[in-house]
Amino acid sequence: MDSLSAVQLFTLRTGCLTLRMPRAHGPMWIDGHLRSGTETEIRRCGLDESIDDYESLDRAEIVIGVGRGVAPTDYGELEELRALLRAEIAATRAVTDASWLPHSRQVGVTARSISPRLYVATGVSGSPLHMVGVGRAGSILAVNTEREAQVFRHSDVGIVGDWRAVFPLLCMEVRRHLGLPMPVSEPS
Ligand SMILES: Cc1cc2nc3c(=O)[nH]c(=O)nc-3n(C[C@H](O)[C@H](O)[C@H](O)COP(=O)(O)OP(=O)(O)OC[C@H]3O[C@@H](n4cnc5c(N)ncnc54)[C@H](O)[C@@H]3O)c2cc1C
Repeated sequence: MDSLSAVQLFTLRTGCLTLRMPRAHGPMWIDGHLRSGTETEIRRCGLDESIDDYESLDRAEIVIGVGRGVAPTDYGELEELRALLRAEIAATRAVTDASWLPHSRQVGVTARSISPRLYVATGVSGSPLHMVGVGRAGSILAVNTEREAQVFRHSDVGIVGDWRAVFPLLCMEVRRHLGLPMPVSEPS
C-alpha cells in the first residue's frame, strides 16, 4: 500500500542484515551552515564516532556471548581474548536478569539480534530464545562443559570444556595466528 503522507516512518530491527564492510573514511559530510551574526555556525551531520554501548555491539565483527556458566567474578578472565579479538561482550537473559551485565548487552527474542562474523558462545546453554538473536552470525563457536548442551546444535565449532581452561588456549592460538609474542609466565 502506498503511503501518501509527507512524513514517512519505518522501523528496522537491528542485526537483521548481515554485517557490511565499512566504507573508507572520507571527508566529513556537512549538511550546510547557519549564519549567526558574523560567526558561521557549522552543523555537522552524518556518521560520527560513537561510544554508545548499544551501537558498538551492533557493529562488532566478533562478539563473545556470556552465559550463566561464566561467574561475574571471573569476567576479568575474558579480557585477554576479548582484547586480542577486539570483540564486544553480549549476554543471555539469565545474565542480564541477574544484573551481572546491563540489559543493553542482552541478545535474543526479547532483546536484540546481532550479526557478527563470529559469535563465541561461552557458558551459554543455547536456548532458542537466545540463539535466535545470533542466527545471522557468520560462524558460531561454543564452549560448554556439557557435551549434550543445546548450543552445540547451533554452532559451527564446539569445544566441550570449562571456558576457563579453553580461553587461555584460544588466546595462544590467536597470538600465534597474529604473530604476537606469547606472554612471559611469572616464575612461581
Ligand atoms: C518469554 C521468554 C523470553 C526469553 N528471552 C530471552 C532472550 O531474549 N535472550 C536470552 O538469552 N534468553 C531468553 N530467555 C531465557 C532462555 O530461555 C534461557 O533461560 C537463557 O537464555 C539461559 O541462559 P544461559 O544459557 O546463560 O543459562 P543456563 O541455561 O543456566 O546455561 C548455562 C550453561 O553454562 C554451562 N557452563 C557452566 N559452567 C561452565 C563453564 N565453566 N564453562 C563452560 N560452560 C559452562 C552449562 O553447562 C550451561 O549449559 C527467555 C525466556 C522466556 C521464558
